[in-house]
Amino acid sequence: MARGRHLPQRTCVACRQVKGKSALVRVVRTPQGVVQLDLTGKVAGRGAYLCPDEACLNQAIKQKKLNRALGVAVEPRTAEEIRDRLLKARQREAYRVS
Ligand SMILES: [Zn+2]
Repeated sequence: MARGRHLPQRTCVACRQVKGKSALVRVVRTPQGVVQLDLTGKVAGRGAYLCPDEACLNQAIKQKKLNRALGVAVEPRTAEEIRDRLLKARQREAYRVS
């Protein structure tokens, strides 16, 4: 009986891997139409999940998967900001783990 415990599972919009919610990062489109990286997972709006991985982010942007998931065109400048914050968050994560 390995079932029963319900860990929230989410799918990366780029590689379609299903992972625990905490293993992915959330990109959110707020009700105001702002697209941003949501590291708290609590920002209101329509969310899309990605591996905390530059390759998945690049793929999601290049193939417009993020656009589809969020229902909005993600501007290149916004994509840059998300990449920037993602990489910084990963650096912090690496320090915490080691
Ligand atoms: Zn992925």
